[in-house]
Amino acid sequence: MSESTKYLLDESKLPKAWYNINADMPVPPQPVLHPGTKELVTPDFLGVLFPMSLILQEISTERYIEIPEPVREVYKLWRPTPLFRARRLEKALDTPAHIYYKYEGVSPVGSHKPNTAVPQAFYNKEAGTKTLTTETGAGQWGSALAMACNFFGLDLEVYMVKVSYHQKPYRRIIMQTFGAEVYASPTDRTQYGRALLAETPDSPGSLGIAISEAVEVAATSGGAKKYSLGSVLNHVLMHQTVIGLETLEQMALAGEYPDVVIGCAGGGSNFAGFTFPFIRENLTNGQKTHVIAVEPASCPTMTRGTYAFDYGDTAAMAPIVKMHTLGHTFVPPGIHAGGLRYHGMSPQVSALVAGGHIEARAIHQLATFEGAVTFARAEGIVPAPESAHAVRAAIDEAVACKKTGEQKVIAFNLSGHGHFDMMAYQAYFNGDLEDYDYPAEAIAEAMRHLPDIG
Ligand SMILES: *Cc1c(COP(=O)(O)O)cnc(C)c1O
Repeated sequence: MSESTKYLLDESKLPKAWYNINADMPVPPQPVLHPGTKELVTPDFLGVLFPMSLILQEISTERYIEIPEPVREVYKLWRPTPLFRARRLEKALDTPAHIYYKYEGVSPVGSHKPNTAVPQAFYNKEAGTKTLTTETGAGQWGSALAMACNFFGLDLEVYMVKVSYHQKPYRRIIMQTFGAEVYASPTDRTQYGRALLAETPDSPGSLGIAISEAVEVAATSGGAKKYSLGSVLNHVLMHQTVIGLETLEQMALAGEYPDVVIGCAGGGSNFAGFTFPFIRENLTNGQKTHVIAVEPASCPTMTRGTYAFDYGDTAAMAPIVKMHTLGHTFVPPGIHAGGLRYHGMSPQVSALVAGGHIEARAIHQLATFEGAVTFARAEGIVPAPESAHAVRAAIDEAVACKKTGEQKVIAFNLSGHGHFDMMAYQAYFNGDLEDYDYPAEAIAEAMRHLPDIG
């Protein structure tokens, strides 16, 4: 075991291929259905939204897919990212556990999201796409895709959840710096947005609504525009596996192997990117690492949602997939400050949770921010509130080791920094946040609106 604090890989160690867990999935993939006919989607339908190269990745069962050289060149701006041994946190917790964290906050926009934004922009450019459309909540995804589109010479239209557009201007301005057009969703630019505004003029918007708008614009553009999604889909999760593939190498440098790996999960992309290479080792190489996906108690998709076929968006225009869902009609509670607000979960992550290969855990927001502050004071990095869910779970695991005396090796993904989320921290320090359990009645009601699949 080495005594270092951080484990750095040379640029030459940047992975040359992504890992596709479809090759090793212990359960067969569930069908993807057309939102109108509820029959299997055709490549034609998906082809309206995505370039063929990404559709082929979506359904591929090849274990490794080569990372194109122009994508690797852009990755080198910040990759390989560091793996830290959290020695100061271990001391602060007085735990015998060894805690490691992979830090994705060193990317230019401060999160893991460019790992897929860059290849998606690359493949679209290759396919002749001129403009991409997308949605964004607080702007992490929008800023990542804006940077990537700028690098590859694509135009970008971002539908940004209205409440965030007004309350969280900094990432919007980053998107504009990269040349993207940003609209407060619901907008009057789409049929769906106009209908919604007629009914609810002061709608704060939601991720599901913004997805519907971005999808509608691409689908009705006559081929000029394509759509890009920052999480949930198989190809997105696969692009993120550079995180876990690097971590495997870095853990080897440290001379340890994790007993526990942890990630926060909104749509599942950073969690999957970090943990799928370790799940590969569990499935194919006899490892027994405990894998934990952490979500907020106020948006408890995996822990209290239903594993069922549901629409990917609020307007029921996106494909129907089998996933853990709180219902596509889900509107996140206003009291919740920690992100991770999507109603569904990636089908791959959902299937692995259902199969018992991943433990899903929900954490309340006060404990989440408390963990974030403990981490910041020990390690000097202010985590993104989303990432703080993983931080909290890692702290809980380490504290449990103190009680049992076990010297477990715990590794988690610090998916981003929180420098643009300081209002959420301020709300926490001011005592304005409270814990909130998403009501069972709301879940039961939403389940009545799931599509009827024969
Ligand atoms: C977007 C985001 C998440 C949640 O998305 P996933 O697809 O679940 O990874 C988590 N952490 C950060 C920093 C993010 O920007």
